[in-house]
Amino acid sequence: MKDLLPEALQLLEQLVMLESPSFDKPLVDRCGSLVAQRFAAIGGRTEIVPEGKFGDHVIARFGAAGGRPVVLLGHIDTVFSSGETQQRPFRIEGNRATGPGVFDMKSGIVLMWMAMRTLGHEHPVTVLLTSDEEVGSNASRTLIEKEVRNARAVFVLEPSLPGGVLKTARKGVGRFTVKAIGRAAHAGIDPSKGINAIEEIAHQVLTLQKMSGPGSGTTVTVGVVQGGTRSNVVPAEAAVEVDTRMTSMLEAERIANAIRSLKPVLPGSQLEVRGGVSRPPMERNADTVRLFEIARAVAAEIGIDLEEGSTGGASDGNLTSALGVPTLDGLGPVGDGAHAASEYIEIDSLPARAALVRGLIDRTVLGFDGGEPRL
Ligand SMILES: [Zn+2]
Repeated sequence: MKDLLPEALQLLEQLVMLESPSFDKPLVDRCGSLVAQRFAAIGGRTEIVPEGKFGDHVIARFGAAGGRPVVLLGHIDTVFSSGETQQRPFRIEGNRATGPGVFDMKSGIVLMWMAMRTLGHEHPVTVLLTSDEEVGSNASRTLIEKEVRNARAVFVLEPSLPGGVLKTARKGVGRFTVKAIGRAAHAGIDPSKGINAIEEIAHQVLTLQKMSGPGSGTTVTVGVVQGGTRSNVVPAEAAVEVDTRMTSMLEAERIANAIRSLKPVLPGSQLEVRGGVSRPPMERNADTVRLFEIARAVAAEIGIDLEEGSTGGASDGNLTSALGVPTLDGLGPVGDGAHAASEYIEIDSLPARAALVRGLIDRTVLGFDGGEPRL
């Protein structure tokens, strides 16, 4: 795998320099078509799945058609705006590679390429790369669910936790908008005729913030507040956007019910609540544990002591796990700083992580069929 490193770094540089902000379809498409080309060049049967608003999704299938595949899942889009590479182009300094999206998750795509380049192609493997993961996966959700439904396992090449730790649990995410509707009035002439929607939403903000349960891991965060038109008008409308995170489906339902049952405090005012759970929690279930045990065994053979952890951030692994498909996440290289300018990967982790992914595919196809894995 080490001899592949120069070519892998070249591909990584190309992918980072082909910027792919989620909302810039032409740029995401350009990056996606290079990805498709590179997987086709190593024997993948590639498909470009057209998407109207976001970039097209890319699929590369390997091995015999019809069998139950292992799915390598990731995304082409990044959180950075176009032009970011002018400020900080792809760079290698010592053991670190930097640049926008290098960790989340252009290097994950490179690992998939390295694994598939060196794997015998008798295994049915589907490489699925979507274009809107960073903005909630609304455009790719149906495709992801269709492609993984029959899969033996899903390996998500998203960034690892610090030190290369895998992600065996992720919190779920719910997004809500709570709108208060009052009544406008002149603030000087007849303020008593008004109902102040900002005052109403202020009450609701305090109630929402108190819904976080420190012991349960559930958090409720009011992240955006809007309201009012002029300082001399009693505001008729105010709204907040709320992010919720939770570790279990039970908590997801409890919180959604609590937010939908909010009651107005000021006489005459009204509340409108929209939203819901957008990504269910990825719970650490028996399948995840078994997959992690396989990963640990493969890693031990490469000389790595692999660990597992959990995160409050969600990925498409949340979707596949909620469908009951065995899912292991955080298989990307060692690095840190996802979504930040400090983002980097450790170059020498690329061959080992690619070998881990390849070994995982091997063992999963041979021994993991929903029953006991053969280690
Ligand atoms: Zn990501």
